[in-house]
Amino acid sequence: MTQETQTMTKYQLKKLINQLEDIRGRNTELVSLYIPAGYDMSKISDFVTSEASEAENIKSKHTRKNVQAALDKIGRKVQEEHTTPENGVAFFSGNVSEREGRPDIQVWEVVPPQPIESRHYRCDKEFVLEPLRQMVVSDKVYGLIAVDKNDAAIGYLQGSNIKTEYTMSSEVPGKTRAGGQSAQRFARIRKEMLKNFLGDVAENAKNALLQKARDDKLLGILVGGPGFAKEKFMEDHLHQELRDEVVATEDLNYSGEEALEELVNKAEDAIQDAEVVKEKNLVNEFFDNLREENGKSEYGVEQVKKALGMGAVDTLLITEDVDLFLARYECPNGHEKEVFEEKPEIEEDMECDECNDEMDLETISDIVDVFGKKAEEMNSGLEIISTDHEEGRRLSNMGGVAAILRYRIR
Ligand SMILES: [Zn+2]
Repeated sequence: MTQETQTMTKYQLKKLINQLEDIRGRNTELVSLYIPAGYDMSKISDFVTSEASEAENIKSKHTRKNVQAALDKIGRKVQEEHTTPENGVAFFSGNVSEREGRPDIQVWEVVPPQPIESRHYRCDKEFVLEPLRQMVVSDKVYGLIAVDKNDAAIGYLQGSNIKTEYTMSSEVPGKTRAGGQSAQRFARIRKEMLKNFLGDVAENAKNALLQKARDDKLLGILVGGPGFAKEKFMEDHLHQELRDEVVATEDLNYSGEEALEELVNKAEDAIQDAEVVKEKNLVNEFFDNLREENGKSEYGVEQVKKALGMGAVDTLLITEDVDLFLARYECPNGHEKEVFEEKPEIEEDMECDECNDEMDLETISDIVDVFGKKAEEMNSGLEIISTDHEEGRRLSNMGGVAAILRYRIR
């Protein structure tokens, strides 16, 4: 089998991030190195060598050995690359052994799906993954609105990042009126000011969120606040299209900008539910298409592969229990063959259909990686469907590989 450094898909990168973020060093011994495109690899090689000799100064013998071994592994990888790939390259290396005194130094080389912006080197107790995480964050967001009678904040939740768009304060006075005013007049002014304030909040919510809702970039809206104002806001002020997007309303202790984080924490279940609802809706759409025989659903690995290749897939659905791999074979005469199989079924070699020569197994790739890469090229969505719910299990029973099409293909 030959292994060249290939650009990763977002899905591959997500998986790798999950794997790397769980690794902890006993000491500051996990090495992360990011190199943007255009760097001279021989200079990087020199840098790695000099860091390795710098590591001589590390006092702890175990840490010193582990850091040097990690840098050595990275150094070898660097030497294999003559030029930096188009998006740059990142290396991670360190001791992943959980048994003391039995080191297991692993190395990862990553060519990410988006360019690495700056050079970065660190030796720490965990790997530096933030630059990679930025690349896999979805462009879809939750809208956040925290509002009470005095303060409001509007923002987004994208991945796990909260971004504030607007913060506002009202001039609505407390219930104690100044001397001389009639109680009635004071109450009326107070009410009027609150109404204006909630109207302004609604206007900003519209500015921040309406276009996203219309562009299908909004996963839902979370609304929260300490008092009654949030209900009044939703009933009387929030734009109808945005009201339809509200997936949670939470009572909060904080108001204003501080409240956004509290809102996200409190709405965690609602966010989970919203994901599940989204998955269920997709699966139902798939089955509706089948029932209506409108040609806009395909299932089975080969059919879905064909539709993907044509660019006809709107959303690819793969249940989480699918365990298929694409095995690629090649014979000495250059004939190629691709077979989807579960891992234990994969043959090391087979007879070539065309020349009867022996075909060798060249590569094995996870179906999610293969289809995920194609989906990215074709601008098709990919949803991994949980089998924790009935709809997911129904899809799994049909093989777990399915697609909702943009247009019918047969
Ligand atoms: Zn052949």
